[in-house]
Amino acid sequence: MADNVAIPEGREVTYLERIGAHSHIRGLGLDDSLEPRQASQGMVGQQQARRAAGVVLEMIKDGKIAGRAMLLAGQPGTGKTAIAMGMSRALGQDTPFTNMSATEIYSLEMSKTEALTQAIRKSIGVRIKEETEIIEGEVVEILVDNPTTGSGQKVGKLTLKTTEMETVYDLGQKMIDSIMREKIQSGDVITIDKATGKVSRLGRSFARARDYDATGAQTRFVQCPEGELQKRKEVVHTVTLHEIDVINSRTQGFLALFSGDTGEIKSEVRDQINSKVAEWREEGKAEIAPGVLFVDEAHMLDIECFSFLNRALEHEMSPVIIMATNRGITRIRGTNYKSPHGIPIDLLDRMIIIKTTPYDEKELKQILKIRSEEEDVDISEDALKVLTRIATETSLRYAIQLITTAGVIAKRRKSQEVSIEDVKKVYALFLDEHRSSQYLKEYQNEFMF
Ligand code: ATP
Repeated sequence: MADNVAIPEGREVTYLERIGAHSHIRGLGLDDSLEPRQASQGMVGQQQARRAAGVVLEMIKDGKIAGRAMLLAGQPGTGKTAIAMGMSRALGQDTPFTNMSATEIYSLEMSKTEALTQAIRKSIGVRIKEETEIIEGEVVEILVDNPTTGSGQKVGKLTLKTTEMETVYDLGQKMIDSIMREKIQSGDVITIDKATGKVSRLGRSFARARDYDATGAQTRFVQCPEGELQKRKEVVHTVTLHEIDVINSRTQGFLALFSGDTGEIKSEVRDQINSKVAEWREEGKAEIAPGVLFVDEAHMLDIECFSFLNRALEHEMSPVIIMATNRGITRIRGTNYKSPHGIPIDLLDRMIIIKTTPYDEKELKQILKIRSEEEDVDISEDALKVLTRIATETSLRYAIQLITTAGVIAKRRKSQEVSIEDVKKVYALFLDEHRSSQYLKEYQNEFMF
């Protein structure tokens, strides 16, 4: 297999589905001299921690973090995950970010070390370089002859103006279909990947390239002298080591990537992939992009996990490990010893510790406003004030959840804007943690029979 390692299709490694709550975070919001702006890139306040995270980020970029990890210590809802996310975003779109809670390690149907190995390999990106022939140019006109009648065959011609000259291409059926569907017009800039037959369109605004797959299209390129119009382009896509593992693991196969249920992966598979990747690196075909592994509730890891991570940090491909906890001095799981944050001293010694502090009312309000915008919920100034009050008295997370639910209620009554009444309604409908436990206390006699 080592000669024939399959590579998954490239995609942006961002795991958005797991990090929806932080989708508004686009970086750490620092200026050129690494000073945090009060509010920038979706980040608000928490300047001290962001400044410190910015310094660590520079160390990561300079490759000076090897063998070390970072610990974010602070109360719930003080932005620990948000800061880790901001760091990963600042490292670049294709830097993998894995967000896990330490408790997940005990719930999966695999050993703890396997779960940690998978988490680590999910956080290591492999940038694979491929050369493809790309034709790029502005569409001058598209002619589609006889689309419905005649022999039933569509004959399409696309005139493309490239930098060098105007060329006419004959198009295959699938290509025409996709071009028609996407309403490509004169003036659009498109690229055609000759290897895959993929057509990409850059909108006039160049806002976003929309891809659609026309693989299999019988595209014949006519009047297209070799070398003149075809550009060789280096296409780079990033996949994670874990994705390569899964796709090459015979017992699971690539379908496991969709279900997420990958089971244990044999160590021989990993060894082969490691040597293949090393080979690609030597040949200049691939490079390693260490990402970020964020482990929340780190005090829930036990001594075995800590030793495993301690060793993993030594590895040259190790991702940046960021842990978070809200515990002070507590017992290290699996031992009778106590230590700061429940983390063994030898690991703590290697950690850069950053503290996060609770937000003031103004900052809470700003965060809630950013979240409302992110969720496309218009909210009245009064309602935002009430929501801020709720965040102060309960938690920021709870208040953020109320934005979505209040938005639904407002829409139901056909209003464009969330009002105080909507917030009141959802506050009564959904309990925060404090009210929920109080309710349980009041009714515990009825619950226990
Ligand atoms: P826990 O200890 O419970 O895991 P946490 O400290 O990791 O909490 P987050 O999950 O990061 O807290 O914060 C809660 C919510 O508030 C998230 O949606 C997060 O994106 C947002 N948030 C927190 N801090 C900031 C900030 N400084 N700027 C913008 N958004 C923030």
